[in-house]
Amino acid sequence: MPPRALPVTADKEPFDIDEAFRRLRQAVADLPKAAMFALRDRGYDSPFEQLVGSLISARTRDETTVAVCERLFAVARTPADMAALPEAELIRLLNGATFPEPKARDILALSHRIVAEHGGAVPDTLEELMAFHGVGPKIAALTMAVGFGMPAVAVDVHVHRITNRWGFVAAPTPERTMVALMATLPRHYWVEINERLVPFGKWICTGERPRCSTCLMLSMCRQVGVTTHR
Ligand code: SF4
Repeated sequence: MPPRALPVTADKEPFDIDEAFRRLRQAVADLPKAAMFALRDRGYDSPFEQLVGSLISARTRDETTVAVCERLFAVARTPADMAALPEAELIRLLNGATFPEPKARDILALSHRIVAEHGGAVPDTLEELMAFHGVGPKIAALTMAVGFGMPAVAVDVHVHRITNRWGFVAAPTPERTMVALMATLPRHYWVEINERLVPFGKWICTGERPRCSTCLMLSMCRQVGVTTHR
């Protein structure tokens, strides 16, 4: 079907965040979960597993991330066990993920530091997590949210794109979107928003030509910046 221009219409319901989450849960119920939530559901929910898994997941497909993490965690699930792995062995275990060599170096380095500087326990602040090489705001927030169960908003490209399209925030970068969401999104949705919007963004509110015509959010979504859709 060729792309079509969006109709000019003001027939939108007020944006209700509770109703939005009800619709999101329904929309993604049968879609594959984002890697970190799929790992959590398989029991890999410790802060260390979430930290390492998030690092592995960067630019790696969700299915691959889950498979690689399951292989790796069968061998090493703690900082001490990970730190004891030879680098070549860790690179081999990361086979399939993108950039296995630098990721192996980052994982080994942070494992050694957690053992040496934090008594073997993953630190539980964004600042301390982001002090590890290779760990940015998204990985730190996922570790905080899924690993520690602490309120943190993990904003990736999907969360950034979709919340701006809704008109719920108006922010030019993922970092600014995270700040805006922490100011406006009720805390009990801080973890769930990433869980729902990653599959929603991969399959429905896609980067190019989102599936607006059949989207459950259409009556509320302002479709900011959407010029064509399916
Ligand atoms: S209506 Fe379109 S832009 Fe809005 S959330 Fe749905 S797919 Fe995305």
